[in-house]
Amino acid sequence: MLAARLYRYDPAMQEELRLETVPDPTIRQPDEVIVRIVGAGLCRTDLHIIEGVWRPILDPEGKLLPYTLGHENTGIVEAVGSAVRNVRVGDRVICHPQATCGLCLGCRVGEDMYCTSARFPGLDSDGGFAQYLVTTERALVKVPEDVDLVDIAPLADAGLTAYRAAKRASRIAPPDGWVVIIGIGGLGHIALQVLRALAGVRIVAVDRSPLARERAGELGADHVLAGSPDLAAEIRELTGGGAHVVLDFVGEQGVEQQSWQMLRKGGTHLIIGYGGTLEIPTVRMIFGELTVAGSLVGNYKELVELIDLVARGKVRVFTQRYTLQEINRAIDDFKHGRYFGRAVITP
Ligand SMILES: [Zn+2]
Ligand SMILES: [Zn+2]
Repeated sequence: MLAARLYRYDPAMQEELRLETVPDPTIRQPDEVIVRIVGAGLCRTDLHIIEGVWRPILDPEGKLLPYTLGHENTGIVEAVGSAVRNVRVGDRVICHPQATCGLCLGCRVGEDMYCTSARFPGLDSDGGFAQYLVTTERALVKVPEDVDLVDIAPLADAGLTAYRAAKRASRIAPPDGWVVIIGIGGLGHIALQVLRALAGVRIVAVDRSPLARERAGELGADHVLAGSPDLAAEIRELTGGGAHVVLDFVGEQGVEQQSWQMLRKGGTHLIIGYGGTLEIPTVRMIFGELTVAGSLVGNYKELVELIDLVARGKVRVFTQRYTLQEINRAIDDFKHGRYFGRAVITP
């Protein structure tokens, strides 16, 4: 089969993925499933992997390369192991990004990302920028016939991450409360729609890009701001005292410091974007009675809920399609912000 593989980490990001023919995968464990890839989302994490940001975590001994990236996958079940009962050959599926064990305590409480012996195809093993992917039965969510598998591929990670954070915000903020979303990109534009679907809150969308601000308005944000060094003060003014929840999809370049400063008393700063370092005087934490929390991807149940929202037309993903042969052009377009939303590779 054809696959796009990474051979070298490159902090300068000049390294291209190599398109090459590799052996077709085979079933090795009874719970494994081979998925014929229909859509594979391109993610900022892929860029960070190429840059070597994840190397100390994913590849400390330098044994991972070369391998196939791609962790936001949809497709058709091609083959199943002998123990697989829940899916059949021909089923249309989206893959939860982690292939989990099902037996550890993290799995037993339903938090797939807490699994202590999971595999993460596209990060620590071969992923979906290829014609076929090996995952496990537990990772697969069936997709209704009328939902386009290419369009929804980014939901496997980007959408799921946005969904978990937005759902949490919808539970924290009162129905007439204020939620600020910073960064209306691949994740933020999904979080905005999820919040609209789940809660009656007032939504303030913040993004530097005029196109992103235009989309935020179309998707139902009540207020749209460009962001500035005075953003925290602007938000406190606009909201009459501060936001109930801030969803920070940037997490660096100073946004992480602005985020908690725009909260009202009892407010919550949810961190989804990463890269920066947060520093908050403890006196501000107690005086504002602030909560700061991270959010990591999402669990299987949340992916099911998100697919249901999409099937009912409550959430849509803006996508730009590229063939597998065009993957390096897709990466280049991503780096230069030449599309809105998410790129999806179609092998
Ligand atoms: Zn991703
Ligand atoms: Zn587990």
